[in-house]
Amino acid sequence: MIRNIYSKWYNKFALICVAFVLFGISALAEENVEKYGIVIHGGAGTITKKAMTPEKEKMYREKLNEALEAGYKILENNGSSLDAVEKAITILEDCPLFNSGKGAVFTNNETNELDSSIMDGKTLNAGAVTGVRHIKNPISLARLVMEKSKHVMFVQDGAEAFAKSQGMSLIDAGYFRTERRLKQIQEIKKKEQETGKKISSLPLCTVGAAALDKAGNLAAGTSTGGMTNKRFGRVGDSPIIGAGTYANNKTCAISATGWGEYFIRSVATHDVSAMMEYAGLALSDAASKVIEKIGALGGFGGFIAIDKKGNVAMPFNTRGMYRGYKLNGKKAVIKMYRE
Ligand code: ASP
Repeated sequence: MIRNIYSKWYNKFALICVAFVLFGISALAEENVEKYGIVIHGGAGTITKKAMTPEKEKMYREKLNEALEAGYKILENNGSSLDAVEKAITILEDCPLFNSGKGAVFTNNETNELDSSIMDGKTLNAGAVTGVRHIKNPISLARLVMEKSKHVMFVQDGAEAFAKSQGMSLIDAGYFRTERRLKQIQEIKKKEQETGKKISSLPLCTVGAAALDKAGNLAAGTSTGGMTNKRFGRVGDSPIIGAGTYANNKTCAISATGWGEYFIRSVATHDVSAMMEYAGLALSDAASKVIEKIGALGGFGGFIAIDKKGNVAMPFNTRGMYRGYKLNGKKAVIKMYRE
């Protein structure tokens, strides 16, 4: 009988133990839920509902969504944040809606000169190219610079010679000549002649992406045709590490868009990371603060950013910014206007 009572208690005790272990495991699994996600932009500027047709809005939404989903899928399948960033940007570069790759704006000489950069938050390695004219996807060349050279930035013909040396094919510059952009530059030049004043058209539709992968690695990239009517080999912030692009596993991954000169002078993307690292600011506070600083100088634009915990920030001081993000287990969010 004593043995019976003992075995009953023993069974109960064993059951309770099993329950505790199971509870413990599920609690642990909760704790270890992998955070990952991607955030992208398609440029900041005077983007208003009033100036948009439903058809145009649909085209932008669909392309932003395609880029987001493609980058996200890579992350979901245990791919790297670098691959996700490169993929998302490549899709936007191939689309004439955006001022990068196929849709790049024209210089004053009616050429297209493209700038791009990418950064790996794990190693703080980075790559960039400026003023390239025969590279279909400048973001991929920036990545080659990062991974296959000891340098960070190559310019113009040198960057293209490096591309060739790596087996990347150069394309005819005619690929970038889109009617819409040609009309823009011709109208601006006509206005310059009429008024006798120099006009550098405000930037719009540069593209960028930032991602956090399942391994906890952050990466960011940016790609642009720069400013319409730019002269003398003008380079903006997009290919400059710390201005247009920055990533650091300790803090965040971030890409900028807007009036490049102000982002360079503000060392904008690095400033966000530095405020997080040295002053302990949250991503959204740091990013908004830098946009405020840029506004106070007279500049405009915005950021998209993701931090090491998967928090996203997308501040801007223009009327709108094409932007979106997708985090693990959540639906994609795409926005354009101030909302
Ligand atoms: N920041 C880019 C530049 O100044 C332009 C843009 O973001 O639209 O070249």
